[in-house]
Amino acid sequence: MRSFSPSRPQLLQLFNLMLEDYGRQGWWPGETPFEVMVGAILTQNTAWTNVEVAIANLKRAGMLAPAAIINSDQTELAQLIRSSGYFNVKAERLKNLCRFLQECGGEGVLREKTSQELRQGLLSVNGIGPETADDILLYAFERPIFVIDAYTRRIFSRLGMCNGQESYEELRKWFESGLGPDQKLFNEFHALIVRHAKEACTTEPHCEQCSLVERCLLGANRQG
Ligand code: SF4
Repeated sequence: MRSFSPSRPQLLQLFNLMLEDYGRQGWWPGETPFEVMVGAILTQNTAWTNVEVAIANLKRAGMLAPAAIINSDQTELAQLIRSSGYFNVKAERLKNLCRFLQECGGEGVLREKTSQELRQGLLSVNGIGPETADDILLYAFERPIFVIDAYTRRIFSRLGMCNGQESYEELRKWFESGLGPDQKLFNEFHALIVRHAKEACTTEPHCEQCSLVERCLLGANRQG
């Protein structure tokens, strides 16, 4: 297996093929950065459609604000986000995030911090791991941080560019150094990876209808 050290042209080629197939994804769905942060926690281990229901409930109840979440009854909060699954755990995580925002002086103060400081701060919140932290950094704070998820591992290991066992940080750094810091590109690239994993590179991949097939190790083996 080749070691994963993609060049910018190589990655851009894949990006452009997916962009041609699916168009711009317009991520992240959310009216405010805070809504994006809440969505990043609620989407852990569940489909986005379930998150939409939970966010609509929070909005209807006037609870989509840090102070409202901090002051809420945790059981009631959990009921509002029930559709997103693991709702008791996620209610606690939302409260942890909101307390972090409050203790730091709010979103405006956090915007002044470097990406590294912000990332460390988010990772110190109980229930926020690297993927959630990086979703928040990229989509709520518009920082050039590449998000790695199971779909990224699946597609890039099938392409033959990594073995899928690399650490989160290893893969993140490879994408970031391969592409160079480019928040808008990272935003679209991650969204396209998710789309491609849902449309073509599914658990049982549809290589026959995949535009990446000529650049894909598994695709070539399956066709050959
Ligand atoms: S050719 Fe098949 S395995 Fe390769 S990226 Fe496309 S769908 Fe996935």
